[in-house]
Amino acid sequence: MRRRETTISLSDSGARRSASVSQDLGIADYEKTIHAIIDTVQAHHKHTDPQFILRAFHFSREAHKNQLRKSGAPYIEHCVETARELAELRMDLVTVAAGLLHDVVEDTGVTIEEVRENFGEEVAQLVDGVTKISGLQFTSHEEEQAEYFRKLLFAISKDLRVILIKFADRLHNMRTLHFLPRKQAERIALETREIYAPLAHRFGMANLQWELEDLALKILDPEAYEDLFQKLAQEKIKSEQLFKAIIDPIQRELNEKGIQGEITGRFKSIYSIYRKMKERGKPFHEIYDIFAIRIIVNTVDECYIALGIVQNLFNPVDNRYKDYIAKPKVNLYKSIHTTVVGPEGRMVEVQIRTWDMHKVAEIGIAAHWKYKEGRKESDALDYYSAWIREIIDWQKDVLDPKDYLEILKTDLFHNEVFVFTPKGDLLKLPQGATALDFAFAIHSEVGLHCLGAKVNNRIVPIHTVLQNGDTVEILTSIHQKPHQDWLKFVRTSKAKTKIKQWLKIAQYQEAVHLGEEMLTNGLKRLKVQISSKALRDLPKQFGKTDLESLYAELGRGDLSLQKVLGVLVPQIPSQEIQSFEKTASPKRVAVEGIRVQGMDHFLIQFAKCCHPVPGDSIIGFITQGKGISIHRRDCLNWLKLSVEMPEKIIDVAWDVDKDRAFQVQLRLMASSRKDFLKEVADSLLRVNTNILKLDLRTENTLIDASILIEVRDLEHLTSVIQRLQKIKGTISVTRDGGVHE
Ligand code: MN
Repeated sequence: MRRRETTISLSDSGARRSASVSQDLGIADYEKTIHAIIDTVQAHHKHTDPQFILRAFHFSREAHKNQLRKSGAPYIEHCVETARELAELRMDLVTVAAGLLHDVVEDTGVTIEEVRENFGEEVAQLVDGVTKISGLQFTSHEEEQAEYFRKLLFAISKDLRVILIKFADRLHNMRTLHFLPRKQAERIALETREIYAPLAHRFGMANLQWELEDLALKILDPEAYEDLFQKLAQEKIKSEQLFKAIIDPIQRELNEKGIQGEITGRFKSIYSIYRKMKERGKPFHEIYDIFAIRIIVNTVDECYIALGIVQNLFNPVDNRYKDYIAKPKVNLYKSIHTTVVGPEGRMVEVQIRTWDMHKVAEIGIAAHWKYKEGRKESDALDYYSAWIREIIDWQKDVLDPKDYLEILKTDLFHNEVFVFTPKGDLLKLPQGATALDFAFAIHSEVGLHCLGAKVNNRIVPIHTVLQNGDTVEILTSIHQKPHQDWLKFVRTSKAKTKIKQWLKIAQYQEAVHLGEEMLTNGLKRLKVQISSKALRDLPKQFGKTDLESLYAELGRGDLSLQKVLGVLVPQIPSQEIQSFEKTASPKRVAVEGIRVQGMDHFLIQFAKCCHPVPGDSIIGFITQGKGISIHRRDCLNWLKLSVEMPEKIIDVAWDVDKDRAFQVQLRLMASSRKDFLKEVADSLLRVNTNILKLDLRTENTLIDASILIEVRDLEHLTSVIQRLQKIKGTISVTRDGGVHE
């Protein structure tokens, strides 16, 4: 299914294909608009040929002449409005012309070759890019969404102006969306909210993003939209005095210092308030940050002077100061934000910026085309191109479409944190990024061997989430290696991709190793000697080029040992081979439910600091004279030990075959009440759990209990904790020993 905006389909394609200019169409209204568009383009780009835009207009009008929009307007209205938006975004001649022509290939009989002949390669490429995007269909399936993004980004990567045309096109479609049938309108609104609004945000186009989001909300949740619209209207009347009480004194002080500044009060978009209410689970009247004061001055120095004035007049709120001039956002947004306590104790956000920053804040990437004029390079545009290329590159590494979509969404929606290396270099990471992400951001090798980190000089585990301003030093060890669990907490695509690649290789190598061991053991059991030539020739007989890939298949179980031995030693009857195949796999001895690579005899101790149980992610630590002690991977004690003695870390795995009990220490806080302890005992009994030890302290009305219990595994433990949490009076149940939980 392709997107359809037209109601009347074309029949006479011959006439339409002629590009001749017909003056007699009776829709002269748009002529006026087109001249206004030409004026706008000329104002921003001196060497603009008005005839080129006129030709594009006439060509498009002719091509679409029998088509109407759902609104009843001639189709050309949509093309003109798209072009007008592009002109207002200060785009150049070629982009505006392509805007006029953006639907001719998709919706009329005109071919891309005809566009090329008439308007040249550049316009044709832009129209082609937009046409490719228009054919995409948004669905709720993650696979298809990933595919949508993939094709979209690919189309953009050839020329960033493609997405600007698409934005302008989408904006007009959204503005006229109410003419469409409900279902179709909802699909387009959802697509806008999920794809185009986040993309607009990523390209710094705030004005466009807000309008798209509000229009989408109007369709997707009309009641909420209407309700907020009314509330905001009332709020605007109420806030006039408040704005004045903030703006006037700032204006006075700016004047005294001889600084020209424009100060305005503005309300945030309906959708952004809607989202805040959803995220915080709060009603409208409890959302305090629904408006902001904006100060626009001429120079960066004046920004800081204005900041001083504001913070002098009103008390700044701690932790609500952000200098995006010193550290711009990833979408290149610059401003200073400070929240102050205004009149009547209201918290008010103040944004301070220069006029240049203001333009970038409003139209983002589009602001940079103007600066590009006369110059070949633009750092900002290069930056955006590099970003697109980077995410296209990931898709080569990330095969699972769900992963790809998740990475993309993180990248599109994330807010960033700024952290420092010990040398003071600044690093930008997505919000929620961990010490391990930081390590990968420094270098893949650092990430792959990351043991932990020192954040602000305190040793922390690798999954620690970083905060703005943290100074991070990574602790590494050549003995450390990636673990499947790492994927659960890393946030950056780089870390995710590198870990997955490493695990894939490691699994392959393990399979090769296992396969080789199986074959050697098999031959040993059969008591046969094989010449090295026979071994060399073996892979060929299974269609393999080398021994390694044969071992890998053997190790993975894709190829049976019986088959291989049958070829290698045909003189031995197959029954004999069959009889021992099951036992040919290398025997790995498990002691106390733990398996240690390459070791048969070892002493096992479960660490008392973190009490691991099967299901926990674990690691071994070799202790002098005591064998191996088993810790949870999130145990802070282990981390401290391993930083001091990294060579003592050893890989271990659970291998529990029969019922075995493991000790766990729980801490239970509850408000004191009669029969509480009896209920605890009953609950534990009901989930088959032994209590080994119970320490209890009661202070006033609070019970603080420490319980040592025995469980089978993590699943059992989880059911115990859930059971205890259900008892009336329970405040919290925590497991001792880990860093988080
Ligand atoms: Mn269109």
